[in-house]
Amino acid sequence: MKPRVLVIEDNDQNLYLVTFLLEKHGLEVVAARDGRGGIEAATEVKPDLILLDIQLPVVDGYAVARALRANPELAAIPIVAVTSYAMVGDRDRCLEAGCTDYIEKPIDPEGFVLQIARHLPPGAVSRVADA
Ligand code: MN
Repeated sequence: MKPRVLVIEDNDQNLYLVTFLLEKHGLEVVAARDGRGGIEAATEVKPDLILLDIQLPVVDGYAVARALRANPELAAIPIVAVTSYAMVGDRDRCLEAGCTDYIEKPIDPEGFVLQIARHLPPGAVSRVADA
């Protein structure tokens, strides 16, 4: 079974790019467009990895991360914050909220995939040549 990645992202272009990159590398993508939808999807799908935008409608990414960490069934899933907040201290805020890692937008396609691969089992992310 393909590893499943839940992408919580409200921006169409970012969602499109991230979905394209993940699918190209052999991963299955489930998308949610706001924080509440993201928490619901995580509960339902139990993904292998969650990519979390911080600036989200309804419930922001920090609150999403805290809610996921408070649920014992979801607490072990790696959460990678993907955010355009470039202010000092954001990384710490993400980690304090329960995120595992942090990627800054704009996304560098190659570096992005490598950073994602670190949070999935070895071999889960196919190289482009294999995909
Ligand atoms: Mn956003």
